[in-house]
Amino acid sequence: MNAMEKTCVRTEGTSWASVTTLLAGSGAWILRQVRIGRYDVGIFSDGIFRLDGGSMFGVVPKVLWEKAKPADELNRVAMDMNCLLIRDERGHVVVVETGAGPKLTEKQKRNYGIDAPPALLDELRRRGVRPDDVTLVINTHLHFDHAGGNTHFDGDRLVASFPKATYAVQRLEWEDAMRPNERTRGSYLLDDYAPLEATGKLELIDDAHELLPGLWVERVQGHTRGTQTVRISDGGRTLWFSSDFMPDRHHLPLPWIPAFDLFPLDTLEAKRTLLPQAAEDRWTVSFTHDVPRFGTIDEAEGRYRFTELSEG
Ligand SMILES: [Zn+2]
Repeated sequence: MNAMEKTCVRTEGTSWASVTTLLAGSGAWILRQVRIGRYDVGIFSDGIFRLDGGSMFGVVPKVLWEKAKPADELNRVAMDMNCLLIRDERGHVVVVETGAGPKLTEKQKRNYGIDAPPALLDELRRRGVRPDDVTLVINTHLHFDHAGGNTHFDGDRLVASFPKATYAVQRLEWEDAMRPNERTRGSYLLDDYAPLEATGKLELIDDAHELLPGLWVERVQGHTRGTQTVRISDGGRTLWFSSDFMPDRHHLPLPWIPAFDLFPLDTLEAKRTLLPQAAEDRWTVSFTHDVPRFGTIDEAEGRYRFTELSEG
């Protein structure tokens, strides 16, 4: 198991190349690995992608959101595609999210502002994990920026990138992703998940399910019908990975809800339930599209604030 991993603070949306060196005297160090009971949990980014800022913040006017998240000349905001690596001492190796993957066309990469190759496999290798070691893959949902690394081409054959793993997805997400409509089609790429069915390695989840002791996936309708969050409660601590119904800390205010969400009022209700719980129970929280890091959520006078866990 790797020792505690550190990386320096970086500006949101900048490339990984700028943080390959640990800079002395740069201030606080972001904590990228935590212990939750029996589990070691690490967070890393598969890379940066870019989506329309207006779509990311729904009804919030640009004059407000661009202060939190500056847009580029195409009105896009840059975001990380975060993954978790969860390990215990009994040989379980869990990967949560697989990033955008290696199958995007040049046009798709241009449209989504993806400049670098996917980092997922290198990040796992750096932590001593080979694809064959992974026992479980969890996709919070099946959009291309979360499930792209599930599969790759071996010659002209599409194969599972983690051949010994079970892939855990909500049943409703699977059904909707297999039959996308005019509104959802742009986010689902069948090659990311359809081949998994034939491998017999697909585990379809209904609502809440404990995949390993204390490791739960829980459906939260909002972003899609079948989006699931990941929660680990063990040894008196809880870690929670948001999924896209709350993609980053800028979505903590209740009305800041992406226009991408298919059920925005359900997102609102889920935030009303989950945010007070996260604050009161001092959950360690991480987001799908924030800078890869862990933090806590505090509430003051009805407003929620994220504070990153750091060292040094
Ligand atoms: Zn996403």
